[in-house]
Amino acid sequence: MKLNIVDTFTASLPADPVLSNTRRQVEKACFSYVVPKKTNKPELLHVSLDMIKALGLEARDAKQDVFLNTLTGQTVYPNTTPYAMCYGGHQFGNWAGQLGDGRAINLFEVQHNNKLWAVQLKGAGETPYSRTADGLAVLRSSVREYLCSEAMYYLGVPTTRALSLALSGDQVLRDVLYNGNPAYEKGAIVSRVAPSFLRFGNYQIFAARGDVNNLKILVNYTIKHFFSNLGAPCKATYIDFFKTVAQRTLKMIIEWQRVGFVHGVMNTDNMSILGLTIDYGPYGWLEGFDFSWTPNTTDAQNKRYRFANQPNMGLWNLYQLANALYLLVEEAEPFQEILEAYKTNYEIESLRMMRGKLGLDTEQEIDVKLIQDLEDNLQLIETDMTIFFRNLSQFSKQKPTLGLHLIKAAFYNIEDLNASIEKKWQEWFNRYALRLGQETLSCKLRALKMNAVNPKYVLRNYMSQLAIDDANKGDYKLIDQLFELLKKPYDEQPEYEKWFAKRPEWARHKVGCSMLSCSS
Ligand code: AMP
Ligand code: MG
Repeated sequence: MKLNIVDTFTASLPADPVLSNTRRQVEKACFSYVVPKKTNKPELLHVSLDMIKALGLEARDAKQDVFLNTLTGQTVYPNTTPYAMCYGGHQFGNWAGQLGDGRAINLFEVQHNNKLWAVQLKGAGETPYSRTADGLAVLRSSVREYLCSEAMYYLGVPTTRALSLALSGDQVLRDVLYNGNPAYEKGAIVSRVAPSFLRFGNYQIFAARGDVNNLKILVNYTIKHFFSNLGAPCKATYIDFFKTVAQRTLKMIIEWQRVGFVHGVMNTDNMSILGLTIDYGPYGWLEGFDFSWTPNTTDAQNKRYRFANQPNMGLWNLYQLANALYLLVEEAEPFQEILEAYKTNYEIESLRMMRGKLGLDTEQEIDVKLIQDLEDNLQLIETDMTIFFRNLSQFSKQKPTLGLHLIKAAFYNIEDLNASIEKKWQEWFNRYALRLGQETLSCKLRALKMNAVNPKYVLRNYMSQLAIDDANKGDYKLIDQLFELLKKPYDEQPEYEKWFAKRPEWARHKVGCSMLSCSS
C-alpha cells in the first residue's frame, strides 16, 4: 500500500505542545497529536472501492494487513503524525465552549490526481477533546455513517465520504435511549475522507478566546488550500471567503431539502467550512412528507433542526461564523449583506429546486403558489415523499384525472383519503396539467429530467436498521447490497424494486428507524 502522503495541516498550523493524551482545554493550537487506540480484534467489514481509487490505491491494497491496521488505528502509517482537531461550537443554540475531535483522529493527508484528501478515523479512541466520553463508536452508528455518506455522494449532495467500515473487536457501553439502561454493543471504526474536516467551530473557538492571531493563521491556511481562487488573504478576501462558505452551505441544504434528508444536529461544530454534509449522527430521511419532522429524540421538544427549519439553521450558523470572522475584518456591513443575500438566494434556489422536482423547465410567477399548495397537500395525509415525486414523472397533462391514481402508492393509510382531500388533489392536478401545458418539453424528456432529481432509492431509516440488525448478528450482506443499490439512486434497478416501498408499519415507532438519539 503506497500512499502519496502530504502534510498541509500539521505543517502549517499551530500544534498543542502537550503530547500526553489527557483531557484538557487546549489553547492557541489548532490540533493535538494523538495516537489511535489499539483494538482487540479489528476486522474490515466493507470498503469503498471508489475511495480506494480516489486515494491512489487499488482494490488489492484493501486486502493487505497494512490497510486493516492503518484504517483501524493499530499502526501509524510511516512518516505520518495523527492528530485531533480543536474546535468549539454552538449546540442547540448555546455556546458550548471547547468541543474538538473527541472521537475522531485524523491520520494523514493524501494527494492524488491533484486532489487533497484528509483521512480520519471515527471511533478510534480517546483524545484530549473526549471530555467525559470514551472516544469510541458502535457498529450501529458506524453502519449508518458509512452507508449514508456514500449514498449522499451518489445522490449529488455535497458530503464527506467513507473509505472503510471495521469492527474493533471491543465492546462499547451505550445507553441508547438515555433512560438508564446501558448495554454493551459492538465497537466499530469508520474511516472517512474529505478534502478537509474543518468546521465553523474551528474558527469560533479562536474568536471566543480572543485569539485573533491564530484565527487569522487558520483562515489564511483555509483560503490558501481550499479557496485559492479567492486570491491572497486580505480583508476583501476574508469577505469573499465568507460569501463562498455561505453559498456552499446554502447549496448543501437545498440538496438536503430536495432528497428529504434531515441532518438532526446542525450545531456549528457539525457545519463543514467546505459546505459538506458532515457528522452523520441522528440523521433521518423523510418518509411521510412533514415539514416539522426531526429524527433526533434529543431535539423532539423544540424541533430546532426539523426538516423545514434546516435553511434557517444554516443561516443562524452562518451568523455565528460571521461573528468569528468579523474579528479579522472589523466591519459588520459586508457580513450583513451576505447574510441578507442568503435569504433571497434561498428563495431563488429553493424555487429552482422545486421546479426541477416538478419538471418545470420555464419560470412562471404562478409556480410559487403551485408549489406551496403542493406542499400543503402533501401534508394532508401521510404521503411518502420519495414515492410521490418519483411517480409524478408519469403524470400526463392530457389525463389529469389519473393523477391521484398515480400517487396512491405514496399514501400510508389509504383509508385517510376522503372526498375533501381527493378534491384538493384533483384541483392541484388540474392546475399542474395546465401549467405543464405552458412547457415545450416532451413528456418523455420531462420524465427523464424529473427522474434525475427525484431519487427512486434513498437510505430509508428502516433499511439501515435492517442492515444493522444483520450486522450485529455477523451477517454483512445487506450492507453490501444497500451500498450497491445506493450507488445508482436515480436508476430503476428492477432487481432492487423491493426497496422502492413505503416504510413498513413495524418501523414506524422503532428505535433506530424513526427515533434516534445522539448516543452513538
Ligand atoms: P456530535 O454532536 O455527535 O457531533 O458531538 C459533539 C461533540 O461530542 C464532539 O466534540 C464529539 O467529538 C464529541 N463526542 C461525541 N461522542 C463522543 C464519544 N463517544 N467520545 C468522545 N467524544 C465524543
Ligand atoms: Mg460532531
